[in-house]
Amino acid sequence: MSKRDYYEILGVNKDASKDEIKKAFRKLARKYHPDVNKDADAPEKFKEVTKAYETLSDPQKRAQYDQFGEADPNQGGFGGAQGFSGADFGGFGDIFDQIFNGGGSRRRDPNAPRQGSDLQYEMSITFEEAAFGKTTDIRIPKEETCTTCHGTGAKPGTKPAQCSHCHGTGQLNQEQNTPFGRIVNRRVCPYCHGTGKIIKNPCGTCAGTGKMKVNKKIEVKIPAGIDDGQQIRLSGHGEPGVNGGPSGDLYIVFSVKPHKYYQRAGDDVLLDVPLNFAQAALGDEIEVPTLYGNVKLRIPAGTQTGTKFRLRGKGIKNVRGYGQGDEHVTVKVVTPKHLSTEEKAVFKKLAELSGNKLSEDDEGILGKMKKVFKAD
Ligand SMILES: [Zn+2]
Ligand SMILES: [Zn+2]
Repeated sequence: MSKRDYYEILGVNKDASKDEIKKAFRKLARKYHPDVNKDADAPEKFKEVTKAYETLSDPQKRAQYDQFGEADPNQGGFGGAQGFSGADFGGFGDIFDQIFNGGGSRRRDPNAPRQGSDLQYEMSITFEEAAFGKTTDIRIPKEETCTTCHGTGAKPGTKPAQCSHCHGTGQLNQEQNTPFGRIVNRRVCPYCHGTGKIIKNPCGTCAGTGKMKVNKKIEVKIPAGIDDGQQIRLSGHGEPGVNGGPSGDLYIVFSVKPHKYYQRAGDDVLLDVPLNFAQAALGDEIEVPTLYGNVKLRIPAGTQTGTKFRLRGKGIKNVRGYGQGDEHVTVKVVTPKHLSTEEKAVFKKLAELSGNKLSEDDEGILGKMKKVFKAD
């Protein structure tokens, strides 16, 4: 095999990016792939570019190559006579999937630690709990590592045996000779289903799965200011990991129940407050509820229905600590439905005084419209 420089083989500069290297390799691999190119030296050329790519596409191997030259053939990969060990050359398309999906020559070890799955839990909370936060316990059904066998799946006192078919790798290799070398097809071991282990005496608690379903109690700190649809992450409270890997995370998504009176707009609180005719016309000082207790609000004389007042800082604390919202009060002037005889008399007197007319300002706007008000 010729000892040309890997960069030269791929036709890229020493400082070529990962993408440039990948692009160059794809082009050359298509050109020299033995399925396409029937030249006598095509398999050798193909092997050469693949080897160059294998080294230069891996930052660690590339750094080593830059420093020491050709990588140690004993380090695996596409070393010497072994040819394309590991890569499945079932067809032209396969090679790209294999190499570009990070599969390549890397073996997936069934005994390698893997992180557990994340879980999601929807938690319904009240308006006030969302505004002020709260610490509470929840119980969620989840899988835990079996406490009897500590996750091995084997009956206490016994151990899972290494699968004799795949020697614990979880994969079976099938070899095949082709014009450009020996090819190894790999498939999941059907005897141990890829785990590499055979459990002869399964644990009675978990039936050999190594996991058990529990209703786990978890403390949840609802952050003050959380809003409907927002979530928090409880690290490590998801499903347990495999082969000693870390647990997944638990996401708590909050669903905030509507309040009887308050509405929420971001960190602001909205509230409608009823006013009677006299308060609106003469002005008044009223008590308005806020999340922090009642406050006094001065209503000026002549206040119209729909007028808004802002109570600064009486909204909700921002969940990320960016200040605090306001309370927006909208007054609604309420027309009385049931009048006492006395009240009726007063309204009649009022009607006589105003001559069934609107105020001067409003009369100006509406003067040309037909009068719709009629005295009794
Ligand atoms: Zn068990
Ligand atoms: Zn096996």
